Amino acid sequence: MSQAICDDKLSSLVHLNFNGKKMNVLALGAHPDDLEIGCGGTLSRLRNEGHNILAITFTEGEKGLSRHTRRSGERVTETRKAMKTLGSIRTMCYSLPDTKLSDHIAKIIDIIEEIVEQFEPDLVFTHTSKDVHQDHRAVHEATIVAMQNKTCSILCYENCRTDSSFNPSFFVNLDGVVDKKITALKRHKTQNGKPYLTPDIILANAIFRGSQARLKLAEAFEINRMVVV
Ligand SMILES: [Zn+2]
Repeated sequence: MSQAICDDKLSSLVHLNFNGKKMNVLALGAHPDDLEIGCGGTLSRLRNEGHNILAITFTEGEKGLSRHTRRSGERVTETRKAMKTLGSIRTMCYSLPDTKLSDHIAKIIDIIEEIVEQFEPDLVFTHTSKDVHQDHRAVHEATIVAMQNKTCSILCYENCRTDSSFNPSFFVNLDGVVDKKITALKRHKTQNGKPYLTPDIILANAIFRGSQARLKLAEAFEINRMVVV
């Protein structure tokens, strides 16, 4: 059964879960642009509602740059600009090797555990496991291991590499924020020309996910764990 979270209801759910307190929200992504694609609209809404968000990327996404014009940290700068557009979201970027994260899962677990110890998230966003990109699957696996003993909700987002077995049951209304998501993705200038970043595709996916939840526009998530405290 699908669960549609409409305008006022995102706050209602948050209040139900957390007695009205502001949440700490940890958002985990393999590459610069993953979070913006998968949950950018939802992060923007949460930020607007005053929640405390920390966004993490584990690689600089260097394999997504031309070898001839590549400049170190270029995509990190772009994701920082995108996160600023979504609501001045605090962002930390690590430099593990792009496309090789599956060789570094233990390190990613260590990083997440250290952050969680300090940040104590109430809600974590991570990649779905239903993804053909090995880095995305590695971040998913590391998240689930690192969070295994924590009382915390975990939602898994989709991406351009998500496969057809992705089966969302949690939807967030993007009405009023989809333009901000599209603007944020335009900050990724080095990725210009990637079809999945064009406004038409972003909008089409939001319409499709919205239709599944009887909404005009939505982002969709698989629930790994939803905790009411
Ligand atoms: Zn990615």
